[in-house]
Formats: sequence, C-alpha cells, structure tokens
Amino acid sequence: MAKLLEGKPIAEKIKEEIRRQILSLKSKPVLASVMAGDNAGAEAYVRSQQKSAQGLGIDYQFHKLARDTVEGQLIEFIQRLNSDNSVNGIIIQMPLPAQIDYKNISQFISPEKDIEGVHPVNIGKIVFGKANMLPCTPAAAMELLKETGVDLYGKEAVVVGHSEIVGKPLALLLLDKFATVTVCHIGTSKAGKLEEHVRKAEVLIVAVGKAGLIKGGWIKEGAIVIDVGINRVADKIVGDVEFEQAEKRAAWITPVPGGVGPLTVTMLMRNLVNAAKSQIR
Ligand code: NAP
Repeated sequence: MAKLLEGKPIAEKIKEEIRRQILSLKSKPVLASVMAGDNAGAEAYVRSQQKSAQGLGIDYQFHKLARDTVEGQLIEFIQRLNSDNSVNGIIIQMPLPAQIDYKNISQFISPEKDIEGVHPVNIGKIVFGKANMLPCTPAAAMELLKETGVDLYGKEAVVVGHSEIVGKPLALLLLDKFATVTVCHIGTSKAGKLEEHVRKAEVLIVAVGKAGLIKGGWIKEGAIVIDVGINRVADKIVGDVEFEQAEKRAAWITPVPGGVGPLTVTMLMRNLVNAAKSQIR
C-alpha cells in the first residue's frame, strides 16, 4: 500500500520559513490580487489566499474590476501596480471574462512582481535552471517529490498534460534533476499510447483535468504518483488517477484533495517573499 504524500505538513514547514523571512523584512510584503467580474470558485480561492496571507503576516490587497473590463483596462491597471513601489507581488485571478486573453495579460505583469511565475521571462529562466519565481503548481509537485527522499537522477518520469503553467514547466524541472522525461498529451492519448508510457513511469505526474483518465492497473509497482488534476464527480473532488487501485501499486501517492492543492498557495507566498526580499531594502 502506498504512503500518502500529503501537502499540508510540507506546507506548514515551508510557512514557518516564510514567517521567519517576513520578520526579517523592514516592512510587511504586499500582495495585490486582481479579479475581473464575478466567479464563485475564484472568490473562494481569494478567501483562501487571504486567510493564508493573514496567517503569514502578508498584506493582501484585493482589487475587483467590473465584468465588462476590457483587456486594455486590465493591462493599464496591472501597469499601475507594476509602478507602485508599495506592491511586491501581483496575482490575476482566473477565470477572466471572455473578452480578456490571459496568455496575453501575463506578459504585462512585471517579471519581478510575477509571483505566479507565468511571465515568459520567468518561464524562460526555468530552461537555464535559474528561476526564482517558479510557477506555483509545478513548484508544489517538486516539493512533494522532494519529500519522498527519492533521487530523481536517471528515473523514468512521465508527465501527462502539457499546459504552459503545469505540464511544460514541470517537464523542465524534472529534466533539471536529470530524470528521463516523457511528456504525454492529447496526441499521445489519440494515438492509443498513453497506457504504454504510464506503465513505464517510475515517477508519474498527471495534470489533465479528466477523472479516471489514468487507470489504477497502469501504475508501475513502486512508482511515485503525483495527481494534480481536480475534478468534481458526484459532489466529490477527485483527481485524474483512479486512486483506490493506484494506491495498491504505488510506493507514494498524493490524495486529491489534500496533495498538491494545499502546497500551491504556499508556493505563491514563497514567491512573494522572494520578490519582497529583493524589493524591500
Ligand atoms: P489545461 O490547461 O486544460 O491542460 C490540460 C492538459 O491535458 C493539456 O495539455 C491537454 O492537451 C491535456 N489533455 C487533455 N486531454 C487529454 C487526454 N485525454 N490525454 C492526455 N492529455 C490530455 O489544464 P491545467 O491548467 O494544466 O490543469 C490541469 C488539471 O490540474 C486541472 O484539473 C486543474 O484543475 C488542475 N490544477 C490543479 C492545481 C492544484 O493546485 N492542485 C493547480 C492548477 C491546475 P491539449 O491542450 O493538447 O488538449
């Protein structure tokens, strides 16, 4: 039976370090959170960020823009935050209204204040192994892997999902640890080859958003399984991996909820403190 890789205890350890670093700053770090329009899910996420910030001694400033905000207005608002010296980090809440393209917006956040690690400069730095603003979900997955104590050198790592904010940066972070990385995506599934790749994974990270995509019987004996997916099925939150069967084969597995999720917000706060350390003198 696999050991459970829970995010909360790791998050608590990292938060202790964040609190210590905040105490050594001359002033409280300030996080500016921007939302356009209404969305119950995003508002719940904002409340959880607010709570987490409060517990760490971070000033969380929430800005709510109208639902009919156009791209130019949001960019202007971001640029004002970029030049406001009292703001150390900026986060744009998703989803944005349909008239705004997030991929376009992310490049207008100053890379120094991009605590979600989504600006092309911060994504690009990952290639050189020099990122100090890692995208939060890949960073959370890497922390979970570190907790296993398993050396990734030469391991067969398979990432399922190739999004810009999760799958692609994760593949680069695993490469940086000298894992042999395979990235699977919709093309892999359509070619009928997903099972074949998953079966050889000593480290499997799944970030798709499709419940039951990865069958428990595909998991290699002794694998580490990090399930990033979040899916609502019959009023329950589940991941992308069939958990009950997978936990019988894996050595380590993340629960959903309770695995990657609790660490993601902590990674955001860690990025904020790193940003504040270079800005507050
Ligand atoms: P995304 O942008 O929708 O990316 C999903 C990826 O899965 C895409 O690369 C897509 O490929 C690929 N895909 C779709 N169907 C597939 C299939 N049948 N077989 C193989 N690959 C397939 O989503 P995301 O933002 O990366 O998020 C992925 C999941 O992680 C979601 O459930 C999301 O809610 C969750 N998530 C969790 C956290 C957390 O803190 N726990 C944070 C972020 C995201 P194509 O684009 O080519 O179709």
